[in-house]
Order: sequence, then structure tokens, then C-alpha cells
Amino acid sequence: MKIAVCPGSFDPITLGHLDIIERASELFDKVIVLVMSNSAKKCAFTVDERIELIKKCIKSDNIEVDTYSGLLVDYAKNKKATAIVKGLRAVSDFDYEFQQALINKSLYPKVETVFLTAKGENMYLSSSMVKEVCSLDGDISPYVPKEIVKDINLRCKGENKND
Ligand code: ADP
Repeated sequence: MKIAVCPGSFDPITLGHLDIIERASELFDKVIVLVMSNSAKKCAFTVDERIELIKKCIKSDNIEVDTYSGLLVDYAKNKKATAIVKGLRAVSDFDYEFQQALINKSLYPKVETVFLTAKGENMYLSSSMVKEVCSLDGDISPYVPKEIVKDINLRCKGENKND
């Protein structure tokens, strides 16, 4: 069984994330969406809330959601995952992602990082952008799965919260 991990902060999940996760689920037998809890990053949603939001949007039964606060490659090794799937938006994502992929490969050579290119309409979409638009009372429905529009509005409308 080929297992892939899709890591991220998902604060909150966007249509860009969901597209990458769903495409990965067509390529692998099982995909684990891994909500990385990083105490240094100030998030609008708790890890448990982020997991619930992801679960509300996921349809395929070969997609699981989990959380981890340690080294990504240790998680991958434990779960016998062979791939880490990342989405690439503009060139701006490349440097950081390339560095991460090289480090992960040197820490655990059995794991491959697989990059899927973002869909054109999601190129400029990020969780921060969604929170920013929402805090300024903009309409976020074109950017996030319909199942969670209400949850995000409840948390972020008028908040002017950033990452
Ligand atoms: P963000 O950068 O929005 O805070 P995350 O840290 O949660 O997102 O990112 C998790 C993964 O999802 C990363 O590989 C990132 O490149 C990818 N990703 C984020 N937004 C998009 C998008 N709009 N299209 C494709 N991939 C994306």
C-alpha cells in the first residue's frame, strides 16, 4: 500500500489545499493530511478545530486526518509513508520547499517529496489571505470549501487577525 502524507498548518484549509489533497488521493492508496502543530506560529484555529474543519470537507475514504508536533520524517517513517506531497504555487514557494525536501531526504532517504502544481485559480490563494479578507468583511466563499465558510466567518470576521 502506497501511503502519502500531506503536511501543513491548514489554518484554515482552503480550496488550494483541498485540490492538492484530492489529487494526491488519486495517486496514492492512502493520504494522511497532517496538521503540524507549531507553537511558534500564532494560529486562528486550534489544532483540534483545524482537524474538524478538514474532516468536514473531505469526501474520499482513503483520506485520513492526523496531527503531529515532531519531525515530519519521523512521522512518515512510523506510518510507512513513502511520499510527502506538497503543493507549489508561485516561484516564491520553491526555495523554501526545495530546502525542506532536501533536508527531509537527507534525514530519511526512503521518503520522496512529490510536488503538485497549484491550479491556476489557486495560485495566489493562502490561509493568510483568506483570514485577511474575512477580517475585513470580504466574501471568502470563492476560496474555501462551502462546508466551512460559516465556521471561518464566525471566527475571523471583523477580527483583523493575521498568521
Ligand atoms: P499556507 O501556506 O496557506 O499557510 P500551509 O502551510 O498549510 O499553507 O501549506 C500546506 C501545503 O499546502 C504546502 O505544500 C503549500 O504549498 C500547499 N498550499 C497552500 N496553499 C495552496 C494553494 N493555493 N494551492 C496549492 N497548494 C497550496
